[in-house]
Amino acid sequence: MHLHAVHGTTRLLGLIGDPVGHSLSPTMHNAALTAAGLDFVYVPLPVKAKDLPAAVAGLKAIGCAGFNVTIPHKQRIVELLNWLEPPARAVGAVNTVRIEADGTLTGTNTDVVGFLAPLAEGRDWTGRTATVLGNGGAALAVVVACRALGFARIEVAGRDPVKLSAFLTRLSDLTGVHPREWSTLDNALEQTDLLVNTTPLGMYPQTDTSPLDSLVGMKPDAVVYDLIYRPRPTRLLGLATALGLQAVDGLPMLVAQAEAALTFWTGVTPHRGVMGQAAEVVLADLRRAESSGQR
Ligand code: NAP
Repeated sequence: MHLHAVHGTTRLLGLIGDPVGHSLSPTMHNAALTAAGLDFVYVPLPVKAKDLPAAVAGLKAIGCAGFNVTIPHKQRIVELLNWLEPPARAVGAVNTVRIEADGTLTGTNTDVVGFLAPLAEGRDWTGRTATVLGNGGAALAVVVACRALGFARIEVAGRDPVKLSAFLTRLSDLTGVHPREWSTLDNALEQTDLLVNTTPLGMYPQTDTSPLDSLVGMKPDAVVYDLIYRPRPTRLLGLATALGLQAVDGLPMLVAQAEAALTFWTGVTPHRGVMGQAAEVVLADLRRAESSGQR
């Protein structure tokens, strides 16, 4: 474990959410802050939904430099902020807040660039079709990012038609976004160029589950992207690689959204690879603990 020096001048960064105990963000951020010689420390800050306004006012009062936001606050925090950067405005949710010197609160959403990071190189997605499984918070950022990549058609599958319809209403400014009934996903797979899982199906400890049981029929050059990073790969990505499809797990997104957040707060680009290595060390420790039955 890295020793992180804390001084009288050290500024606070953190993560607010409920729960925050299993987050990799403190490890990734403190590794990058240490490597870059930045005088900040990043800590997990558990905040219950009812306490959000008081917690944000308190962080402002104590001179906190900024914070990440996770479940359940990503959407509710919006009303407490003074300014939203374009990605946060497009998504309608915030995962990163900067507290300016005058106390102004600026929100952004680095999940959009995070999601794009492993897809940005090499391929032209213009005119293609994406299929997004799930209609929660992460799916909002995924759809906005897919639109930015130029996909002509983005189909979103949700298990609850009422929630799916509310999700599509929130994104009604975007063209080309359509609902897809979960029961007809098999037909969609044949048409899709990018399949994205934004549900928690397959995440530790339910690693033997998958949002889909077969990917047979998918185009041979299709990409299957699972936002989950524990385990790596998920059962869904195992199905993809068994068919020779390109598989992308959630770790590059996790790392890229964190790198973008650190730059948003400090103006400094983190040293390449530091956050990813720190995350991999924690994930390897967790795997060892799992196999010895500790968690
Ligand atoms: P969320 O807001 O709770 O959304 C989860 C979505 O999954 C909801 O639409 C939910 O449907 C759906 N879902 C849950 N169980 C399902 C099931 N059995 N069948 C079908 N759909 C189901 O959570 P989130 O913040 O979007 O996060 C979703 C996943 O993405 C998590 O695994 C999270 O770890 C991962 N994630 C990864 C990154 C990264 O950087 N790699 C970033 C953000 C999120 P209902 O609305 O009907 O409940």
